[in-house]
Amino acid sequence: MIQKGQVVALIYTLTDPDGEELDRSDAGEPFSYLHGYGQIVSGLEKAVETMKVGDKKTVVVEPEEGYGERDESLQMTIKRSAFPGDATLEKGMQFEASLTGDSPARIFTITDIKGETVNIDGNHPLAGETLHFEIEVAEIREATDEEKSHGHVHGSGGHHDH
Ligand code: ZN
Repeated sequence: MIQKGQVVALIYTLTDPDGEELDRSDAGEPFSYLHGYGQIVSGLEKAVETMKVGDKKTVVVEPEEGYGERDESLQMTIKRSAFPGDATLEKGMQFEASLTGDSPARIFTITDIKGETVNIDGNHPLAGETLHFEIEVAEIREATDEEKSHGHVHGSGGHHDH
């Protein structure tokens, strides 16, 4: 069993239900995360838990254990003037904003621009998607105390400055 506080390196490919590739780990450099800290979607974290180095698995993650269902109320139309006058807006551009003064910031994507109106979407791009992961565990190691206190993985050697 992989325990909370271990660093897991995964080689993975992520595809949608039609088999279209959405993401993959870099060639020669597995993706590392700190297990038990909610750094990866819960459905994937749960599936990895029982694996050991060298194991391969196909994992299907439904939206509720992935990036959530789409929330249509996060699709909004705002005025061009809500952006700084010198900003160049393009479809597909992303920006961070809070809906109210004290709510946490979320990432919005510009989905359309029509004259003075801009359509934006605050859903995660993969919200509502069933995710298909092909994974292989490349490495499991204990996290350093520093990594645990930061809640994330540091680079090779376990050092970086912040
Ligand atoms: Zn750190």
